Amino acid sequence: MKKGKKPKNIIIIGAGIAGIATAIRLKSQGHDVAVYEANNYPGGKLTAFSEKGYRFDMGPSLFTMPQFIEELFEVAKKPIKDYFQYKKKEVVCNYFYEDGTTFSALADESKFAKEASKTFEVTEEKILNYFNESKIKYNLTASLFLEKSLHKTTTYLSKEALRAIFNINSLDINTTLSNYNSKMFEDERLIQFYNRFATYNGSSPFQTPGIMSMIPHLEQYFGTYFPKGGMHSITTSLFRLASDIGVEFKFNQKVNQIITDKSKATGVLINGEFISADIVVSNSDIVPTYRQLLKQHKPPEKILQQPRSSSALIFYWGITKQFPQLDLHNIFFSEDYKAEFDYIFEKEDVHQDPTVYINVTSKEEPDDAPKGHENWFTMINVPSNNGQDWDSIIEKTRSNIILKLSRLLKEDISKLIEFEAILDPKTIESKTQSYQGALYGASSNNKYSAFLRHPNFKSKIADLYFCGGSVHPGGGIPLCLLSGKIVSELIETSSK
Ligand SMILES: Cc1cc2nc3c(=O)[nH]c(=O)nc-3n(C[C@H](O)[C@H](O)[C@H](O)COP(=O)(O)OP(=O)(O)OC[C@H]3O[C@@H](n4cnc5c(N)ncnc54)[C@H](O)[C@@H]3O)c2cc1C
Repeated sequence: MKKGKKPKNIIIIGAGIAGIATAIRLKSQGHDVAVYEANNYPGGKLTAFSEKGYRFDMGPSLFTMPQFIEELFEVAKKPIKDYFQYKKKEVVCNYFYEDGTTFSALADESKFAKEASKTFEVTEEKILNYFNESKIKYNLTASLFLEKSLHKTTTYLSKEALRAIFNINSLDINTTLSNYNSKMFEDERLIQFYNRFATYNGSSPFQTPGIMSMIPHLEQYFGTYFPKGGMHSITTSLFRLASDIGVEFKFNQKVNQIITDKSKATGVLINGEFISADIVVSNSDIVPTYRQLLKQHKPPEKILQQPRSSSALIFYWGITKQFPQLDLHNIFFSEDYKAEFDYIFEKEDVHQDPTVYINVTSKEEPDDAPKGHENWFTMINVPSNNGQDWDSIIEKTRSNIILKLSRLLKEDISKLIEFEAILDPKTIESKTQSYQGALYGASSNNKYSAFLRHPNFKSKIADLYFCGGSVHPGGGIPLCLLSGKIVSELIETSSK
């Protein structure tokens, strides 16, 4: 906190990963911070469950950019090793294609290029050139688009902004990711591989702009990791850190309204009780934040009506066998990627041959499944919840993906499932208040989407801020953590 400033009394609505990260930063700045959470547990989408000898991470499974977690321990002045440990993955993901091609994506860039040139019609040079272009895009835009508020003029007066504007043509904003990848490669399997990165923010490669080709750089340069104890330990360790430095958590406390007076946030209402605050930060999805908590204010309809990102349908399966050809992350591609995404974003339905992702944490943590068994988090991308008949979608999709996996793994999977639980978009929505169960707030299916995410503050209401996956800079764990950084910097620099 700046010299001469008094600590503020801050309420955070929601103990999702962004709410916890924001709380750690604001408490470390010297403020009094209380987090009010509707559920009886922290973490929101980043949670877990155990049953019948299996442990499953329920939501996120891919962990990248651990530096943003490291930073939280640095600002809180606590040694990370006492709370959180993680290791780098040498095999990033195993890929399986319907034509029988298999490909192991390796973390080391030159090994990756060598392996790719053996598997696909491509030279090592072309792969390395792609990664180089990916890196250029990231370096030109990351500090501008991800680490700062896009809605403050000072952001555009920086050296970084001028550099990005001068190099605008190399950002591939005016083409789609799929067109960009088709220009870079001839082999359809490789194009599908690089198109997949659109799903990292819940978008379609056939609509999202080519600038998303910076995402492979994140995976390749910064690497992918596995936290000791599984993804849920991100939640448990940050929750413990926040509690240790004095953040107060109140569970089973659903905020019903954000109270404002003369265009200033003054507190929240819970079950008819007013709790006052100098500053309110909402980690709730931006749509319910306006539609339920700020009913007395005019909502920014253009922002709220942006199409949602994809959601997920997950089968948590206890499998009575081990598959040596699987690693922690595994992708079984659909045959027709275009049709798959048309189903998700145009027809708002699920194609009969969806791409299947299987995450098997028992590969890293044998105790996550009984001996000789595996815990399969089997997920497909699906549309956000618009009132579809999910029971019938689940029934037909379940049999389609069992057939697909049985075909590609040459084993009748249906006979190996001894435990099953299911998560669908409706449940994601009801458990986390995420509008339509979207995983990443609005989709990034057009070139203006970064600018149509809600800012981290509201110019018409003082002392009200927003963090989390539905506002700037976006969804996914690293970006949620960055939203907390932006909010804490905005509060730190606010003149009051
Ligand atoms: C199945 C799935 C797979 C995913 N895979 C990945 C992945 O591999 N890698 C990755 O980086 N990201 C992934 N994501 C996305 C990632 O989980 C999210 O971006 C991130 O967890 C969002 O965190 P958040 O803090 O913004 O919101 P949330 O986790 O949604 O938390 C919001 C919290 O606010 C609480 N809340 C809301 N309204 C109120 C209220 N009125 N009063 C009190 N409390 C309230 C909710 O109960 C909830 O706890 C995935 C998500 C899902 C669901």
